[in-house]
Amino acid sequence: MDYPVLLEAAEAAARATTGRGHVADYIPALAEADPEAFGMAVATVDGELYGVGDWEQPFSVQSVSKLFSLALALAYSSDGGEELWRGVGREPSGNPFNSLVQLETEHGIPRNPFINAGALVVTDRLQSLTGDASGAVREFLRRESGNPLLDTDPVVAASEAAHGHRNAALAHFIASHGNLQNPVETVLEHYYAHCAIATSCRDLVLAGAFLARYGVRTDGTRLMTRSEAKRINAVLLTCGTYDAAGEFAFRVGLPGKSGVGGGVLAILPGRAAICAWGPRLDQAGNSVAAVTALDTLTTLSGCSVF
Ligand code: GLN
Repeated sequence: MDYPVLLEAAEAAARATTGRGHVADYIPALAEADPEAFGMAVATVDGELYGVGDWEQPFSVQSVSKLFSLALALAYSSDGGEELWRGVGREPSGNPFNSLVQLETEHGIPRNPFINAGALVVTDRLQSLTGDASGAVREFLRRESGNPLLDTDPVVAASEAAHGHRNAALAHFIASHGNLQNPVETVLEHYYAHCAIATSCRDLVLAGAFLARYGVRTDGTRLMTRSEAKRINAVLLTCGTYDAAGEFAFRVGLPGKSGVGGGVLAILPGRAAICAWGPRLDQAGNSVAAVTALDTLTTLSGCSVF
């Protein structure tokens, strides 16, 4: 596949979305992002790396980190994830990523690991397994991307905590149903710390390529079984872009995870990891430019999981 040509076309389409959507402004640190920034990168399973635009510029990873916390919690669990999947479902929620509404009728078991409620449960289990959930995510991202400078932005993390009433409410509600193993404060601290990691499209395609390699890390060792990687890709497809997962599957046709920092990491199983970034978000909290860029790449190339 001619990735440089595809990336050029994707960038042109993404740049044409100028002015559409809004930069996340629930915390000041995110509101400062340049709305017209755009980057995109591809890492193939054969080790090729391509990028366009601001593909090496760090941005706030936000909910894209939920892909990595889930992968590590599953990889480190000794029961094939059985305990984890008792505490969090794997059905699309059809609700916004920070919604509280289903938790009450569903007894503190979040619908899936990629909405905030579910990611809090995953962070809790990863904390139990490693003693340092955000550190585990950071270390994995550093090792896979080969970027030793990759780190949590302390200003973003502090700001998340200061404006975190909704996430705190979710965590307390889940705890009231006995579905957290660690103190609420610990879970929130690690959740904010992994959401506040600064990464680039380059870092994320390298770190996400293990899913394109069906569970095999950059150094050739296996993080998880092929079946586990398949399952993560399935949950990414159905839940990774929240209540717009149907639209994302329709337009892009790949498993993918978005974040309110404007990044979207998508997986073309057996071939490549693809990440696009642009800070302007649509109503569901997905980047307008990134989804357009991914749509263009898969539409022009004919490549998707379908
Ligand atoms: N840190 C953000 C939050 O918890 C992440 C949300 C997102 O990227 N969708 O609200």
